[in-house]
Amino acid sequence: MAIASINPVTGELLKTFTPLSDAEIEQKIALADHTFATYKHSKFADRSRWMHQAADILEAKKTELAIIITLEMGKTLKSAIAEIEKCAHLCRFYAEHAPQFLADTPATTDASCTIIRYQPLGAILAVMPWNFPFWQVFRFAVPALMAGNVGLLKHASNVPQCALAIAEVFHAAGIPEGAFQTLLIGADRVANLVADARIKAATLTGSEPAGQSLAAMAGHHLKKVVLELGGSDPFIVLHSADLDLAVSTAVTARIMNNGQTCIAAKRFILEDAIADLFIAKFVEKFKALKVGDPMQPETDVGPLATPQILHKLDAQVKASVDAGAKILIGGYRLKDKGNFYAPTILSDIPLGAPPYQEEFFGPVASIFRVKNIQEAIALANSTNFGLGASIWTQDLEEIELAIEQIESGAVFVNGMVKSDPRVPFGGIKRSGFGRELGCEGIREFVNIKTIWIA
Ligand code: NDP
Repeated sequence: MAIASINPVTGELLKTFTPLSDAEIEQKIALADHTFATYKHSKFADRSRWMHQAADILEAKKTELAIIITLEMGKTLKSAIAEIEKCAHLCRFYAEHAPQFLADTPATTDASCTIIRYQPLGAILAVMPWNFPFWQVFRFAVPALMAGNVGLLKHASNVPQCALAIAEVFHAAGIPEGAFQTLLIGADRVANLVADARIKAATLTGSEPAGQSLAAMAGHHLKKVVLELGGSDPFIVLHSADLDLAVSTAVTARIMNNGQTCIAAKRFILEDAIADLFIAKFVEKFKALKVGDPMQPETDVGPLATPQILHKLDAQVKASVDAGAKILIGGYRLKDKGNFYAPTILSDIPLGAPPYQEEFFGPVASIFRVKNIQEAIALANSTNFGLGASIWTQDLEEIELAIEQIESGAVFVNGMVKSDPRVPFGGIKRSGFGRELGCEGIREFVNIKTIWIA
């Protein structure tokens, strides 16, 4: 794929970039390696100060940076601004808490003194996607840098201006140039990076095939890897739920980021007793959604990021209909220009149709009906994914059952699944492994060293 910014609203080519040459990549890896030798000794106080400065810059420039996001990948400007604000919050969170997360931890053994120490590994490669082009990168970079690692970013080929802007934010904040660098390269150059002895570990957020590919390379070279892949999160609504709140949250949870979120609610699993009412309200709200120019404040849903995403989504909807699913609203591409797709609801989905197993990366909701909580949990667990899950009920036994039995990295009760710097984020099954955020996230890329003094 060419490295280029293409406006998803118009299809207009905004800017192209020449991928780095092998010699340029070598220079950047050498600089990362060289910088690590000193950066790993920098003090938490300095790293925290840089992160607070990065947060200040993000807050001061939030609209300017958000415009780059919206122009390159089409999310609404208001959600792009919220993304930048969330990155600032993340910087401040780790600026304040990293020293405590990585402090020497004493252990009780038969030695005179036993300590667990967390030491940085070196250069970490991050292969990142376009859907939250700032947040996904900051989620990796901030804890990695606070831990004393240095970062190399291979961003998605359709968001190069975001990639460059992120590096500028870190450098303007005072972080040494070699501690965070952007590599404008295609996916075909990742294998050589993973093979390089100076790169100690890798992380990837994106599709299953990309994750499989990186994991295979990392496995071959015996390097640590964290993967945050796709999801088809269930949103379970049972009879005692606050229905109006569940419906309005369901709409947000599905169409947020134009539907292109790994933790978006994708499968709406409704108990028979409330299904008809939920569906009627849900369809009404979908009807009211405004699809259009993401720069306009009244727009709810902008275009999909690329024509490939659009075509894949359209093909998935068509395959579902061919298999016997019904369309309650939408089900077609909007406008001649741009990657717009109508907010869509599928129901009466036959067993084995695409919504049962595939991730729908766009504003398409799939509805399933069940008799009770047991059926709901069985259906929730019937995919290969295991990222997040949302359950709506007032019944404590049902809540306990869902928390205990749903196979996912997170369960949210009476709320939508979201990421938050204060708690770990990640999946099980084919949604990936390892964790980002929280204390667990910052400890992924460190050497957990046992010190035993007899
Ligand atoms: P990809 O997974 O292809 O892209 C994500 C990142 O991985 C990009 O930087 C990409 O580089 C890189 N990449 C792709 N293939 C490889 C590879 N074989 N080895 C190393 N790196 C690789 O996502 P797409 O943009 O193609 O989206 C396709 C689908 O992926 C979506 O429909 C959605 O289902 C899922 N997805 C999930 C995301 C999530 O948050 N979980 C985020 C994005 C996508 P390059 O851009 O240069 O190809």
